[in-house]
Amino acid sequence: MTLMKSWVESANTADTDFPLNNLPYGVFSTLTLDARCGVAIGDMILDMQAAEEQGIIDLTDDPLFDVPFWNEVMEEGPAVWTALRNRLKDLLAANSSDQALIAPLLISQADAEMHMPLVVSEYTDFYAGRHHATNVGTMFRGAENALPPNWLHIPIGYNGRASSVVVSGTDICRPWGQLKSPNHELPAFLPCRRFDLELEMGAIVGMSSDGPISVDEADGAIFGYVLLNDWSARDIQAWEYQPLGPFQAKATATSISPWIVTKAALEPFRTPTPHREFELLDHLKDTGPMLYDIDLAVTLAPQGKAATTITQTNYNEMYYSAAQQLAHHSSSGCPMNVGDLLGSGTISGPTKSERGSLLELSWGGKEPLTLETGETRTFLEDGDTVTLHGAAKGDGYKIGFGTCTGTILPALKDPYAR
Ligand code: MN
Repeated sequence: MTLMKSWVESANTADTDFPLNNLPYGVFSTLTLDARCGVAIGDMILDMQAAEEQGIIDLTDDPLFDVPFWNEVMEEGPAVWTALRNRLKDLLAANSSDQALIAPLLISQADAEMHMPLVVSEYTDFYAGRHHATNVGTMFRGAENALPPNWLHIPIGYNGRASSVVVSGTDICRPWGQLKSPNHELPAFLPCRRFDLELEMGAIVGMSSDGPISVDEADGAIFGYVLLNDWSARDIQAWEYQPLGPFQAKATATSISPWIVTKAALEPFRTPTPHREFELLDHLKDTGPMLYDIDLAVTLAPQGKAATTITQTNYNEMYYSAAQQLAHHSSSGCPMNVGDLLGSGTISGPTKSERGSLLELSWGGKEPLTLETGETRTFLEDGDTVTLHGAAKGDGYKIGFGTCTGTILPALKDPYAR
């Protein structure tokens, strides 16, 4: 696959995140336009509400773009997803006869504020990166017991909170929580001292189900993907996690990138899951390549200072695909809904520079990282800005995700003050 040319010139470069091949879905507002659905093309956004009002987009009897979220498009199902993408390609392709109609509906991304692209129905986070699970397990239980016995047979996960999912750019306030220092007999309620990031991908479920679905059905039900930062309070987590897993450590916030990159745009980049020493049970078996070759990176910028790249890895390091996670999630009969968000689990590669969290990068705080500014980090400090980057790289083009960013604000002085 090569770059598809658009009449929007900024979409025709090798380094734009948003060529015609991509066409990701977001929600934006400007000083004069209320929040509405838009499609990124080069450095512009196509106003979908205006396009529908003018009859340029006319795929369904009822309007799809009179609301500032993409759930209604998802609910229409894959035939409409494909029809919409084809229509957008026709309108924006270099040889389009509709340029004069569409040009007035393009807004500069520089003038837009981005909002949550969907209403998140429910949020589940997995623990499906083998290198991450091995690193964390080694730190907590020793190398011999790093992976729990179930890990190679099911994608482990926990039910998170949709209420705390926020769009990129939202500031993140350092949480308070109950901490238990090994030097003290009793826990204390204090601001988190080991606040961390987790580099993940989020899969967005676009079709509901009411009962177990196969891996192939699950793959078909996924609408698209975003970058996801599962902010994690490691000291809260260490005290609370046994025996039911993370709770308040993960409840402060989860950030997602503002553009939903469709599964259709990622098709050329499918890759298989890694070698397995245990065959999966039939209902979880791979039926084809269901991961994607997506380069990922994290940068960390202390307040007012230059950013340092602290990790570089790839989504193809996952042990389980989002389709396998969704199939597993449904296997007990759990109903899945349009707008459900599935976090992949922290993505780490095999080497130190590919670790997707500060917990791993600083090996539990024992090996501080040196940033390009000369400062060191074990965990996040107030004022730090963390940014996730992701792109699938094609021949002279890329399918970019934009960025997923957040800045750490100091803990409140008194969290219970009224
Ligand atoms: Mn996570």
